[in-house]
Amino acid sequence: AEDAAYLISKIRTIPGFPKEGILFRDFMPALADARAFGILMDALEAALPVSADDFDVVAGLEARGFLFGPALAARLGKGFIAVRKAGKLPPETVSQSYDLEYGQASVEIETNAIHEGVRVLIVDDLIATGGTANAARSLIEKCGGTVAGFSFVMELIGINGMESLGSYPSSSLVRMP
Ligand code: IMP
Repeated sequence: AEDAAYLISKIRTIPGFPKEGILFRDFMPALADARAFGILMDALEAALPVSADDFDVVAGLEARGFLFGPALAARLGKGFIAVRKAGKLPPETVSQSYDLEYGQASVEIETNAIHEGVRVLIVDDLIATGGTANAARSLIEKCGGTVAGFSFVMELIGINGMESLGSYPSSSLVRMP
């Protein structure tokens, strides 16, 4: 409990960023602090939504999934796949678009990054509506991969993000409005 409180004390909240009405949760202080980062990584590992035997690789979502995903993968002896935002990768890529509050976005991976039958744990810092996480799931499945589950550091409550994932195993360390 003391560890949890310490970790939460290192998550900074910025009202009105990136636009008015949004409470932005900033994890960078929790990475900068050795104790908080250790607590965070131990907790992510302890809260895995499935056994580490049930997936082959960790996929992280750009950008903050790139901070936690590789650290988790290395601890578990797994590889890491970067799920990128549109336009960052050279061809050939596989892409999946999804709806934002206003407009659309897409996520991409390199063709051949995921082989048929590979079991993937998806990692991101935060789930809000679940739009990004679901797009990553569709992308991985489109490539023939199997999504074993989802790990998040934080879940924004009251907007049904976790519910939007359906029956896939999922976990989050911290729940906040
Ligand atoms: P969703 O697609 O609505 O679930 O939004 C989740 C995505 O937006 C994740 O990739 C997050 O990194 C990012 N995001 C949304 N709100 C926040 C926040 O308050 N702090 C950090 N990232 C956020």
